[in-house]
Amino acid sequence: MTMEVPTRIVRNQPTSDPSVSLDVPMLKNRDYQHKVFVNRSVTLENIKCYGFDMDYTLAAYKSPDYEDLGFELLRDRLVSIGYPHELLRYNYDPTFPTRGLVFDTMYGNLLKVDSNGNILLCSHGFTFLKRDKIHDYYPNNFIQRGNTDRFYILNTLFNLSETYLYGCLVELFTRCSRYVNCQKGFKYGDLFMSFRSMFQDVRDAMDYVHDTGVLKESTLKNLDKYVIRDPNLPVLLTRIKEVAKVFLATNSDYNYTEAIMKYLLETPPGAKNPKKQWRAFFDLVVVDTRKPLFFAEGTVLRQVDTNTGKLRIGTYTGDLQHGTVYSGGSSDIVCDLLDVKGKDILYVGDHIFGDILKSKKRQGWKTFLVVPELAKELQVWTEKSRKYKHGQPPLHDLSDPNTDVVTYRMDLSYGQMGSLLRSGSRQTLFASQLMRYADLYSSTCINLLHYPFSYLFRAQSVLVSFSLDMHVIINRDMHLLFHQIPC
Ligand code: IMP
Ligand code: MG
Repeated sequence: MTMEVPTRIVRNQPTSDPSVSLDVPMLKNRDYQHKVFVNRSVTLENIKCYGFDMDYTLAAYKSPDYEDLGFELLRDRLVSIGYPHELLRYNYDPTFPTRGLVFDTMYGNLLKVDSNGNILLCSHGFTFLKRDKIHDYYPNNFIQRGNTDRFYILNTLFNLSETYLYGCLVELFTRCSRYVNCQKGFKYGDLFMSFRSMFQDVRDAMDYVHDTGVLKESTLKNLDKYVIRDPNLPVLLTRIKEVAKVFLATNSDYNYTEAIMKYLLETPPGAKNPKKQWRAFFDLVVVDTRKPLFFAEGTVLRQVDTNTGKLRIGTYTGDLQHGTVYSGGSSDIVCDLLDVKGKDILYVGDHIFGDILKSKKRQGWKTFLVVPELAKELQVWTEKSRKYKHGQPPLHDLSDPNTDVVTYRMDLSYGQMGSLLRSGSRQTLFASQLMRYADLYSSTCINLLHYPFSYLFRAQSVLVSFSLDMHVIINRDMHLLFHQIPC
């Protein structure tokens, strides 16, 4: 894995649309926040089509306000179906969860694991378990993460509020004297509440919050609070459309997509002439895509009546009509409508499984993963590595008994569950999937603006396929993914 520093800097590159031309700041050598990282080489010149996911990709939600909203709606829903009122005392704490944790529905534990299922961290409620206690639950310090009936991976940014809620529920029932603690749940009189049933209730509540539209309604009522409106987004899409085809493929419904995209593209702050309709930024818009199913057999493709938001009955079989919005369909249909092949597409999404793994594995698309957490990960890493370089105990001295403490302290700087990508010098399941399935990744898709569309993102050639492992071995004092960043 390498980090690309563009040889040519894109500055003041005009677009043919005067309403969206903005200066793009020059990328400085140390400006990690704006960089695009490379796992496998991608030649932008060969990309004929760019696809974008919407939620958490084009529409970046403000953290932690948005997770906070999701948590409150979820918590209140659980109380409304009978969970104890004491739950209302809990407020979202963004320092607790990290994305990519696994919930063990048998024992109620939250686990941070590596790609093989080795346990890196384990919490029961908000109590972090020591090594011997973890061994009592998991004798080999290992889980069979392929056992998806038992282990649920909290992969998406939407899952962050849910992750925290599992912590709250287990903590609440463990501490409440009305409940008796058992290995697989809690007893209350002659009622038994298993961790498994608790998990099912939370999952159902999560679906309720999304499917009934309560989260979307609250978001739309306060867009400024929850959605980042970046004036560079219309610039990016306009520039891409001048060199390639562009499509949007979102699991969200039409009405929500319309409101969000209007907000993001039709009224950019500072735009001189913001009257271009949001749909004009795309060659094709598909809503209700039901990814990951979209990358396999998909669903019926229908046209959306953009005046009413209703779907037209029957399957759409005609040619691509500009400005028309479609619902459902599949990745194969998108290729047919746009007349492009999978290898010509760069798909940009935030969901490691639904967007990236499936589009890569099933369709061979080039992939770009948006990882908003990278902004903080890079900030912590640069600050801490500088600090440890100057005066703090050297991290590379592995014989030093303080090494564990230093590593642990550094991990805590990311949050209670540590970094999204590592635990000490070991990489997480999320990091290994990122390396395997994302050709490119960055904290935001806007960072593509810093590279010309003829750019070659070149992966470093290494002896083995995963350069990360090598760098961890060579640079184990750094304890981060980004060892090749020149300091
Ligand atoms: P996309 O990222 O643009 O494809 O859209 C994600 C969609 O999935 C949004 O409409 C979310 O409301 C929805 N979503 C995310 N998580 C869940 C869930 O756990 N249950 C149901 N819908 C979800
Ligand atoms: Mg998304």
